[in-house]
Amino acid sequence: MDKKGLIIVLSGFSGAGKGTIMKHLLKKYPDAYHLSISATTRAPRQGEEDGREYFFRTQEEFDAMIANNELLEYATFNGNSYGTPRSYVEKLVEEGKDVILEIEIQGALQVKKMYPEAVLLFVMPPTANDLKERLVGRGTETADVIAQRLAISSRESQFMCGYDYLVVNDDLAKSVEQVHSIISSEHFRTARNEDTIKTIQKDLKKFERR
Ligand code: ADP
Ligand code: 5GP
Repeated sequence: MDKKGLIIVLSGFSGAGKGTIMKHLLKKYPDAYHLSISATTRAPRQGEEDGREYFFRTQEEFDAMIANNELLEYATFNGNSYGTPRSYVEKLVEEGKDVILEIEIQGALQVKKMYPEAVLLFVMPPTANDLKERLVGRGTETADVIAQRLAISSRESQFMCGYDYLVVNDDLAKSVEQVHSIISSEHFRTARNEDTIKTIQKDLKKFERR
C-alpha cells in the first residue's frame, strides 16, 4: 500500500449535503478519515463553534494567514473568505492519513493544480428544486442569501466535469457509502502503489531463466 495519505476534495452546491455526508462518514469510519477545518471570515451559524466547524477569523487575521503562507488554498464565496490551513493537511498526508477538504470550486481547482494526485468529488442533489428546498429547510440563511447561493450554484455547475467523481445525494446512507468506496478504491490505483510493484518485480527476478 502507498505510504502517503490522500488529499480528498469534497465540493458541491451549497445545501447539497456535503456537511451532512461528512458528519456521517466521520461517525461511521472515525479512524479512516480526517477533516480539514477551514478558516473563514463568515459569521458563525447558530450552534457552530470556533475550531470545530471553522476557525472564525476577522478579515485582518485571514489576510495575515495569506501573507504568512499559512493557507494551502483560499477563495472568496459570496463575500466571505474561506481557506484551508496548510500545516494540518501536509502533516497528516505525510503520516499516511487521508484528509478531506470540504471546499468550493475555486479552491478545489487550486488544490488539483498543486496536487494532481488529489481526488476530487462533487456532491449534487437529485434535482435543482431539492437544492432550494434543502437550503430553505436548513434555515440558516435569509431568503436573500439563499437566492445568492442558488445563483452561485448555477455558475458552479459549469465546472462539475473538472471533478473525478460525482455523488448524487439522494439517500444519505447510500451517499456516505459511495464516498467511502470511492476513497477506498483510490488506494488501489497502480500509480499509488509503485513501491509494491517495484518490490515484486525485483523479487521475481530470481525466477528468470536464462
Ligand atoms: P452543505 O454542507 O452542502 O451546504 P448540508 O449538509 O448543510 O449542505 O445540508 C443541507 C440541508 O439538506 C440540511 O438541512 C440537511 O439536513 C439536508 N440534507 C442533507 N442530505 C440530505 C439527503 N440525502 N436527503 C434530504 N435532505 C438532506
Ligand atoms: P458555508 O458558508 O456554507 O459553510 O460554506 C460556503 C462554501 O465555502 C461551501 O461551498 C464550502 O465548501 C466552501 N468552503 C469552506 N471552507 C473552505 C475553504 O477552506 N476553502 C474554500 N475554497 N472553500 C471553502
